Formats: sequence, C-alpha cells, structure tokens
Amino acid sequence: MPHIHDVIVVGAGFTGLSAALALTGRDVLVLEAADRVGGRVESARFGDGTRVDTGAQFVCDDMENVMALLRRYGKTLVHTPMDGTSLVQPPGPDDDDAYLQSRALRLQLRRLDPADPAIAGLTVADWLARQRVSTGAARAFRSTVEGLWCRPIGELPMWYLVSNDRRITNKQTEIQYFVGETIHSLADDMAADLGDRLLTGHPVRQITVTGEGVGVTAAGRMFLARQAIVAVPPVMASRIAFEPGLPPPLAAALGAWRSGAVIKVQVRYRRPFWRDDGLSGLVAWRDPLGLFSCDVSREGAGATLVVFIAGPLALSWRQMREPALRQAILDRLAGALGAAAREAEAIVLRDWTDDRWCGGGYGDTIFDMQARDAEDILRAGAGPIHFACAELSPSFPCYVEGAIVAGRAVAEAIGVANSE
Ligand SMILES: Cc1cc2nc3c(=O)[nH]c(=O)nc-3n(C[C@H](O)[C@H](O)[C@H](O)COP(=O)(O)OP(=O)(O)OC[C@H]3O[C@@H](n4cnc5c(N)ncnc54)[C@H](O)[C@@H]3O)c2cc1C
Repeated sequence: MPHIHDVIVVGAGFTGLSAALALTGRDVLVLEAADRVGGRVESARFGDGTRVDTGAQFVCDDMENVMALLRRYGKTLVHTPMDGTSLVQPPGPDDDDAYLQSRALRLQLRRLDPADPAIAGLTVADWLARQRVSTGAARAFRSTVEGLWCRPIGELPMWYLVSNDRRITNKQTEIQYFVGETIHSLADDMAADLGDRLLTGHPVRQITVTGEGVGVTAAGRMFLARQAIVAVPPVMASRIAFEPGLPPPLAAALGAWRSGAVIKVQVRYRRPFWRDDGLSGLVAWRDPLGLFSCDVSREGAGATLVVFIAGPLALSWRQMREPALRQAILDRLAGALGAAAREAEAIVLRDWTDDRWCGGGYGDTIFDMQARDAEDILRAGAGPIHFACAELSPSFPCYVEGAIVAGRAVAEAIGVANSE
C-alpha cells in the first residue's frame, strides 16, 4: 500500500514552514521546488563571508509573530541605523509639504472602505488624479505606492490598495530592525526542525484529487496525502495543473494576480562615509521614482547600503546589462551622498522580477478590477486543496509576518494543527 501523509505542504517559504511546524505530531511532508528553503527570504555572502539578506530583511516590534520566532531561535536584532539627515532626491523647495500631503493621502486611503462605491472601478492612478494635492505630493504618493506594491499605480485597483494597506498596521517604521545572522538563517533553522519531512528540489507540477485526498506529482513521483496546502504565491499556484480542473471561480481567483517587480542591491563600503556629512544614508528618489536606499551597516560586518529598485523602474532598469545597472546605482548614490559612493568594495545584486519560483516581490497584487472576492475564494480552497501565502494574510499581507500568520491559520483551519 502506498503511504498516505496527513498533509502535503507545497512550498517552503515562511508560509509553508509555519504551516508545517504548526502541524508537527502529524504526518506532514513539505515539497519545495528550489534547492533551498525560504522563498522570498534568501541570502548571499560578500567575498569576506558576511551573510546578507537578498530578499526580506526588515522587521519591527509590531510584527509580533516573526519577533517571537526570532527570539525563540536566538537571533540578534540590529537597529537599522537612522541617525542623521534623510534625503529626497533631487531636492525641491516643497519637499516637506509634499511629504506631509503624501502622508495625509495614505491616511485618507486607510480610512476608506474597500466597498465604497466612490472608488469602484478606479485604479490608484484614477483616484490620485482626483485629489487636490500638489504635483510634488502626487509624485511622492505614487513613489510610496509603486515602491511598496511594486506595480504601476495605473494597474492597481483602488479597492485592492485600500483593503491591503489597512492590514499593514505597524506604528513603528517597518525597517526598525534587521537580523544579524540574516532572516534567511531563521528559515534554515525552521527547516532543520522539520528534518526529513521536507524535500527540496521537488517542484510540484500537478495535484490530483483522489478518493482518499490528493496525489501530488513532483520530481517524477506521486506523493499521497489526505489534504494539500499550496503555500506559494497566487501566480505560482496558477502554474500548477489541477486534476480535475479547479472550479471556475477558484481558477479565476488565481488568475487575478500579477507578481511585483523589484531589484534589491547591497552595496558594501570600507566605511560609512555618508555619516561624515551627518547623513543617515536613507534616500528616497522622486526622480527616478521607485528608488530607495538605507543604511544596514552593523558592527563587525562592514558598512553597507541597501538599495531597492521597485515597480516600473525595476522593469525598465533590468533591461540594462549588469555592469550598466551597477553603474546607474552608484551614480545615483554618488549624486545623493557624495562621490565616495562610487568607491564600493562589493555589490550583491538580486533581481526578483519574474523569479522562477516566487514570481517577483515583494508580493503578488490583484490587477483584475472585478476580482473583489478573489482572496476569500482562495482562502476557502476546494475540498482537500487549501491555499495560503503572505498575500492572503489577514495581517501584514506580503510581509514575513503575514506569511507566518497565513501558514498557521491554514493549519488551524484544516483542523489538524497542534495546540502548542
Ligand atoms: C526583495 C524583497 C524584499 C522584501 N523585504 C521584506 C522585508 O524587509 N520584510 C518583510 O517582512 N517582508 C519582505 N518581503 C516580503 C516577504 O519576503 C514575503 O512576503 C514572504 O517571504 C512570502 O512568504 P511565502 O511563504 O508566502 O511565499 P514565498 O516566500 O514566495 O514562498 C513560496 C515557496 O514556494 C516555492 N514554490 C513555488 N512554486 C512551487 C511549486 N510548484 N512546487 C514546490 N514549491 C514551489 C518557492 O520556491 C518558495 O520557496 C520582501 C520580498 C522581497 C522579494
């Protein structure tokens, strides 16, 4: 008789790892496509061996589940250095006013109801065009939205942004801390706790509903289980074949998403030269839109700036060859922080756009204006097949915190989770 697991979890990002660990004591198998765990949490090393997060990196006190996990696994929290002057580039006479107006717009959108008929059928660009704010403020707001949601505002439904943003409830800045050992090392530790119940290098190609549950095809084998948790972003889930086909509303709900475009760059220097001029290293560019840097230096591990290239800018800049892209980044840093920015010792560049197994970052967003119930439909799943990912989280969607919440919630919902 072939072995039948209680649950097969597809994907070993934080959602899948959290779901699987919540199911310990049960017969769980995690199948991960890549040859590593973590998904959009990933790391690389500089030449001297220093490990840096090339995917998710930052956490804050308001993200209580990830903070508790970091404490439990003995990780070191490093305060993101923010002393000194932050810059807007290029500077303009109305920067302060534009920033305040842009913040007011974000607060205004958080007070909106996603079901408000006044925003039905509007993209974020449509809504923004109707607001009485200065050009500078509109640009600052666009920069925030495209920088965080990594898609052009002309394709984001306003109701989606409202629904998503009201679940991001941090009072502290979301870049309050990063993890000394890397947040990726936390994923590795969680995977170690799962031991041989996790198989990497097992891309799931098909899920077949059987009389007893599901048959999950990966690496040329079929694994059997009573239930499956598909813990991958919606765009990735839409690439798995389901047999029989998913009910049409569920298939449509999976098809309503697009992956975000983002390039993350860590630039290493001999010393944090920007501090000599009283600068924090935190720079928000208004031109080009979608570029942001901050200081992630830490004691004993060198001076480092992290640079994010997000949304339409990532789509455009990734067309460059890598040396030209590196030069474009150093040029912008030098324009803001001084010529010393050109003297980088090392650069680690990670383009997440169209990533083979995650699709992009920071998360998938809904582009289909009509897909108001897509998240609810996905959370409901179909028989023994359940969907979970950071995107579907009731809190902090598209963050590591959201992935942990979503993973534990699905384990709880299928009724076989541990009570610990
Ligand atoms: C550059 C970048 C920076 C970010 N910064 C932050 C940050 O600072 N703080 C923060 O909280 N969040 C950040 N995020 C977002 C955060 O990383 C994600 O929200 C979170 O990690 C998503 O977890 P997940 O498990 O839901 O999905 P994923 O991490 O995408 O995990 C899905 C897993 O499923 C696997 N998979 C996909 N298809 C298959 C298949 N067919 N078969 C088997 N396995 C499959 C993938 O390989 C992957 O391991 C960032 C993301 C990016 C890309």
